[in-house]
Amino acid sequence: MIEEKGLNFIAEIIEEDLKNGKYKQIITRFPPEPNGYLHIGHASSINLNFGLTEKYGGYTNLRFDDTNPVTEEVEYVESIKEDVKWLGFHWKNELYASDYFETLYEYAVRLIKKGLAYVDDSSSEEIAALKGTPTEPGKNSPYRERTIEENLDLFERMKKGEFGDGAKTLRAKIDMAHSNMLMRDPVLYRIKHAHHHRTGDKWCIYPMYDFAHGQSDSIENVTHSICTLEFVPHRELYDWLIEKLEIYPSRQYEFARRNLTYTITSKRKLLQLVNEKHVEGWDDPRMTTISGMRRRGYTPESIRDFCTRIGVAKRENMVDMSLLEFCVREHLNKIAPRRMAVLDPVKLIITNYPENQSEEVQSENNPEEENAGGTRTVMFSRELWIEREDFMEVPAKKWFRLAPGALVRLKSAYIIQCNDFKKDGEGNIIEVHCTYLPESKSGNDTSGIRAKGTIHWVSVSHAAKAEVRLYDRLFTIENPGDEEDFTRFINPDSLQVIQEAYIETALTTAKAGDKFQFIRKGYFAVDKDSSPDHLIFNRTATLRDTWEKESRK
Ligand code: ATP
Ligand code: MG
Repeated sequence: MIEEKGLNFIAEIIEEDLKNGKYKQIITRFPPEPNGYLHIGHASSINLNFGLTEKYGGYTNLRFDDTNPVTEEVEYVESIKEDVKWLGFHWKNELYASDYFETLYEYAVRLIKKGLAYVDDSSSEEIAALKGTPTEPGKNSPYRERTIEENLDLFERMKKGEFGDGAKTLRAKIDMAHSNMLMRDPVLYRIKHAHHHRTGDKWCIYPMYDFAHGQSDSIENVTHSICTLEFVPHRELYDWLIEKLEIYPSRQYEFARRNLTYTITSKRKLLQLVNEKHVEGWDDPRMTTISGMRRRGYTPESIRDFCTRIGVAKRENMVDMSLLEFCVREHLNKIAPRRMAVLDPVKLIITNYPENQSEEVQSENNPEEENAGGTRTVMFSRELWIEREDFMEVPAKKWFRLAPGALVRLKSAYIIQCNDFKKDGEGNIIEVHCTYLPESKSGNDTSGIRAKGTIHWVSVSHAAKAEVRLYDRLFTIENPGDEEDFTRFINPDSLQVIQEAYIETALTTAKAGDKFQFIRKGYFAVDKDSSPDHLIFNRTATLRDTWEKESRK
């Protein structure tokens, strides 16, 4: 599945084109429709389009495919720009298909003058009824033989707003018996008296996708117009229009849409999750939108790495979510400072450590970096918070953590031995009592004793409180996108909120977007809603793949 960087089949075509001198520079475009936020599938298309021009020289335009006035919003335009920039790509021109409405109108007139387009008064039902089937030819519309003059007049009047929505269309005059159904006199323009987010009320006729996309490519001299496989049948019309209009010969190439397990990659369905409030918004950290992943703590590098690893395919297949999670762990492991945080606290008392005393210990920031990224000071004292799960009253086999009599090392501090514990009336452990070995301090250990396990901790009197949000995959099944009623498969445990976790002092100055590894607990990022009085950390990923055994069941 993993293709080597740059050697995908589209890159091969480009290398060939450059070798033959067909183009001096490569021009691609990323053409989102501003009707939703970008998701991980779009990231793959962005990485491909921008990656190719970075590699081969040339540039990529960001073109908003905004020819449908009804579903588009300025909020989406802004979010798309932010997301592309955040991923680390730079477009040459910010363009809008709607800026070409005048040119597209002239192109339509050109086709009419060549006798290659006509105004049809049929309703959409009537047009559909005459379309035929893949095995049966269609029938000509009764309006097909209108004269050029009549068509020019009617088309102009369509533009002027003389007719109501759907009363007329402009259709290409190709062949109602064509083997490709899309070539059976496709509709080029429809009447829609709707307000457009950029052109306002200037237009009441709007070009169809097929009469806007390829033409916009030509206007921009796009050399390689890359789209997803569902547009394969459109390529014939794309080429026909370019040929008849005698405009710049852009070429269309198709690659397989990227879908990911345990998530949704359809703007329409993502919008449904937002509208029905299954998630907090488009940037909910459980969403595989770019903004959701950013808020969750993903780095642009990890997303680009993922896109490059999955490469470009000619056939659709599902990509395993674990690979995306692997990529973020890989990157965060290299860059995230290590910190200590206790998510499910239980108190540990070191009975032979003096009361009211505390001391500094030094802990590595990141062992993956040169010189371990330096160290930071962590305060140690008699009373500590440790994880509840790190103590077992009756230890299991191969248990190397705390249990009565057991020895463990407190990360970057001392070896301790557990002597006793206290329970509440319901049998919950409320205190663990230990003694420490003063000569076992990390970095200066003369005890000669080796503890098999190491656990993390924070000092009760120095710790700060924080909210921690544990995010998990949003769906419980591999392919929710295949289900009509996909919201039924939302993972009920996709968000678990810990109101009172304890964090070490160094974390209290963390700012929105900062990323850390909480030792032994996973990778965490500061949420955008976090404030100094109420710190909020989002779990980006666990340290290991916890879903692996699930999918093998
Ligand atoms: P959706 O189905 O989510 O609405 P779309 O294809 O309609 O997606 P556009 O805004 O039209 O979304 O897409 C912009 C570009 O991103 C197009 O070139 C499209 O082919 C590409 N793209 C969209 N989804 C994916 C995906 N899952 N994998 C790869 N490329 C994608
Ligand atoms: Mg689309």
